[in-house]
Amino acid sequence: MEDKKKSSKEKFKKKKDKVKKEDEKEDIKIMNNTIDIDEEKEKEKGHEIKKINNADFFFSDKKFSQMKLTETTVNCLKKQGFIISTEVQEKVIPIAKKGKDIMCTAKTGSGKTLAFLIPAMEILIKTDFQQNQGVGIIIITPTRELAIQIYDVAKELLFLAHKTCGVIIGGGYRKKEAKKLIRGVNLLIATPGRLLDHLNNTEGFKCNNLCMLVIDEADAILKNGFEDELIQILKILPKDKQTMLFSATLSKKIENLGLLSLNDPVYIKLKINPEGQNNNLQNLEQEYLIIEGNLKFNFLYTFIKNNSSRKIMIFFNSCSEVQFFSYLLNYIGIKVLSISGDLKQINRETIYREFFNSEKGILLCTDVAQRGLDFPEVDWIINFDLPLSVDEYLHRVGRTARGPDSHGKSLLILLPNETDLLERIKEKNIFVKEYKFSKENLIDIQQKYELLISSNPALENLAVEAYKNYIFSYMYSKNNSKDNRQNIENIDKEKLIKSFGLKEVPYIKLKTLPDKK
Ligand code: ADP
Ligand code: MG
Repeated sequence: MEDKKKSSKEKFKKKKDKVKKEDEKEDIKIMNNTIDIDEEKEKEKGHEIKKINNADFFFSDKKFSQMKLTETTVNCLKKQGFIISTEVQEKVIPIAKKGKDIMCTAKTGSGKTLAFLIPAMEILIKTDFQQNQGVGIIIITPTRELAIQIYDVAKELLFLAHKTCGVIIGGGYRKKEAKKLIRGVNLLIATPGRLLDHLNNTEGFKCNNLCMLVIDEADAILKNGFEDELIQILKILPKDKQTMLFSATLSKKIENLGLLSLNDPVYIKLKINPEGQNNNLQNLEQEYLIIEGNLKFNFLYTFIKNNSSRKIMIFFNSCSEVQFFSYLLNYIGIKVLSISGDLKQINRETIYREFFNSEKGILLCTDVAQRGLDFPEVDWIINFDLPLSVDEYLHRVGRTARGPDSHGKSLLILLPNETDLLERIKEKNIFVKEYKFSKENLIDIQQKYELLISSNPALENLAVEAYKNYIFSYMYSKNNSKDNRQNIENIDKEKLIKSFGLKEVPYIKLKTLPDKK
């Protein structure tokens, strides 16, 4: 029995090596193991880079059909409307096909998902990977929503190629997941905690034939505190596999993770131009509005009423605010969906899909929805609460106007003492114009609002919690800075509580935290 097992593993290894060798014949020049994609240089060479709607989402001049992929893959891509590769895809795919480890940094929206799904699919097809071989590809992502998003793309592609795929995420049905894993899935997408759980506890979850490991949004995985889980996972998984690491940003920590997980990797960097990620957002119209705290909710209410046929995402800094405002808005007859970190998984998944598929509607969310998630055709991204750094702002507004042919608008709502963020955004050469609006057009519901809150203890409790957590989000956020703390001290709290429908400023005991380095 053991011998039989061994020989089938060896046979498979031979098959894998043969596939790699065939691809190695392809001629690709790799200088010092690094490939830089520099738009300016490409242009100097007379290389035409087609920009779609001015977005940095630019296509390379290679079609997928010219990339020596299997016919099955090319056809599956075509059926999904993917014909021409993006720059990142054009650079990553041929090297990945050679079986090399890759560390790729490229900004959000550059097409990284297909850059790893396509080579993954190629391995499965070319090695004729079977269900009883266990799992062939593992993709690790930081959030459940991102896992589902990748799953939705992978499922469609793999279905046409008769390959199976599955997703395991914290909060999902563990037993059902285990059953599926034991049966075997060709391609598996997972969040780190749950993957580690199954690796340790699900007997019969077979990984010994693993061909490829992808770590997507590595920066967010580390930011979410999954470093230990990731290290343990790397220890458990077999060593003779190909590993690819993707990240929107590069940092010392990411480099260290690379050293730990990658073997003689090729570095592929899509140069982020000096102005940061802003060119990613050129088909996004960005606006801001400075408004007194007492008018904030009135404004939101008016905005929602005036935009009832639109698809809108509204960002808050804390789960409590999402809870309060979604309860409140639904209570007064405005249907809204909400996603925040404290929701049960099953709800998050349903809500994510519902909003994804709807043509109009409102989603209230915290930064859980911020990284890597892609909602098509969102008309408006509203920052109801100030993002606590320029990066957070960019990630939030990056949820729309992604991919070719998309358009979107964003609105940053600021209190009069929060304008330094605006300055910092403008310093990065990002154009944000003032939102045109006059106070006379506000629908004044303030009195009714306060009456509703004061006469409904459940709502009032939620309002107080929401207010407190708004203040806490400033004080204790990861981006906690002196500026943010000074801001919160300067906020006109008497006015601000009105946007929570409160009449009295709730007492909050604040601990002062040292500045984070
Ligand atoms: P990233 O992971 O780099 O942030 P994604 O892989 O999520 O970017 O891609 C961003 C958007 O671009 C998605 O809507 C995706 O469907 C679209 N897209 C990616 N590659 C292509 C392509 N080759 N042709 C057309 N659209 C693409
Ligand atoms: Mg991505």
